[in-house]
Amino acid sequence: KVRVRFAPSPTGGLHIGGMRTVLFNYLFAKHNNGDFILRIEDTDQNRFVPGAEEYIFECLKWCGLEPDESVLHGGGYAPYRQSERKELYKQYAEQLVKEGKAYYAFDTPAELEEKRKTVPNFQYSQLTRSEMKNSLTLDEDAVQKLLAENIPHVTRIKMPHDETVGFVDMIRGAVNFNTSQVDDKVLLKADGMPTYHLAVVVDDYLMKITHAFRGEEWLPSSPVHILLWQYLFGIENMPEWAHLPLILKPDGKGKLSKRDGDRLGFPVFTMNWTDPKTGELTAGFRERGFLPEAFINFLALLGWNDGSEQEIFTIEELIKKFSIERVHKAGAKFDYEKAKWFNHEWIKRSTVNSLQLTLKPLLINAGVEVNDDEKLKTAIELVKDRCTLLPDFVQQSSFFFQSPKEIDINSIKPKWNEHKQQFFAELIHVYGLSTLWNHEELENSFKELAAASQIKPGDVLLPLRIMLVGGKFGPHVFNIAEVLGKKETINRIKHTLS
Ligand code: GLU
Repeated sequence: KVRVRFAPSPTGGLHIGGMRTVLFNYLFAKHNNGDFILRIEDTDQNRFVPGAEEYIFECLKWCGLEPDESVLHGGGYAPYRQSERKELYKQYAEQLVKEGKAYYAFDTPAELEEKRKTVPNFQYSQLTRSEMKNSLTLDEDAVQKLLAENIPHVTRIKMPHDETVGFVDMIRGAVNFNTSQVDDKVLLKADGMPTYHLAVVVDDYLMKITHAFRGEEWLPSSPVHILLWQYLFGIENMPEWAHLPLILKPDGKGKLSKRDGDRLGFPVFTMNWTDPKTGELTAGFRERGFLPEAFINFLALLGWNDGSEQEIFTIEELIKKFSIERVHKAGAKFDYEKAKWFNHEWIKRSTVNSLQLTLKPLLINAGVEVNDDEKLKTAIELVKDRCTLLPDFVQQSSFFFQSPKEIDINSIKPKWNEHKQQFFAELIHVYGLSTLWNHEELENSFKELAAASQIKPGDVLLPLRIMLVGGKFGPHVFNIAEVLGKKETINRIKHTLS
């Protein structure tokens, strides 16, 4: 059975690159009737950020991409948080040391720092390990003594000399490395925690992961992981790998970062994230007013397409059509205008009922007195084609519920005259007598009155709109009057005339 995992480190807000990895995992799992696992990789205690784990779960929930197994969902391979699996990793590190495939290194942080200062681009590797303090250079007794004294040490992989290791990436095809080019990565840290390199291999094995998708930045360390698979569990059990392309800045120059978002004013996180240390807020797509369906649709097309011209996909269609082989090798340029286009398209396609659920609290929060759900639904139906982001609904529909606070009267004033004043006075009378209050009738009687008054309907339409709406925007003016009702429509006209 297909089993995939998203394995975030809880170090901060979820960048859209991470969310896209979630999405590709999810789509691949569901396409293959497999399981999607969420594993928290919190072995780096220095980078742990409180609240980040909860935030990740909330992002997934908002997007509707629920894991089958996780800290919250349970599952047969618990625990799903690496810090709670600490004891598991050590035995594998020990096994490697016994077999001569890893070694203890006793160099202190200060000694390593000194090396880095004096040797440009210093790396702990086959070229330098003989000058360092480790179980390869010290004799057996000295090593035993240091261990007995509990001298802090790490366990490092002993990278073999001049061997080729490779694998077939699902996106990139055959990838090969020479082991001499890779440093002796730490596997187990002095605090007994594994590093990513050891933990990812052990957990992917124990959790029976069949396919592993991760960011392209992990490609250079994949030879370490391949060797660990070979040494510990057999290469035939290794999951198939896919290294996902980067999401690039809008100009295509380099990886999209949080700072690009701040600088250019667009969100790069899934939801708003406030750094607990600095209090700094990074904007998220959710709060900016995106529908999760649109966000997902946009993300899916960052680096993937189904080979056709189709751009709008529901999650069901994505599950059906997704294949990892159609993910591009090249980085995908982030385009915020395109993201907004997707949102606009999804707002247009959304049902009034589903929009109403999201919009009612949003409008109330913005101070709009929404007290009639049916009226809200009609208003949404009338204005949804004009909204790109959800907060646009506030401006586009608040006049249905409350008379405009400010009337942009100046835009009609210069052309105002007695004749028009007269027309509207009569319109109040005509509308007051009308028995059928619907937009066709309202438009007909308006036009008849205009003809009778020898006034061009075009000259009085904009003033009517401004009286009802407050500005030069909104749907068809007689539809607005219909929703407002007789009393309110007449009141607004009277109010402006007085
Ligand atoms: N914990 C790693 C990260 O945060 C996960 C990489 C992987 O999926 O293997 O990027």
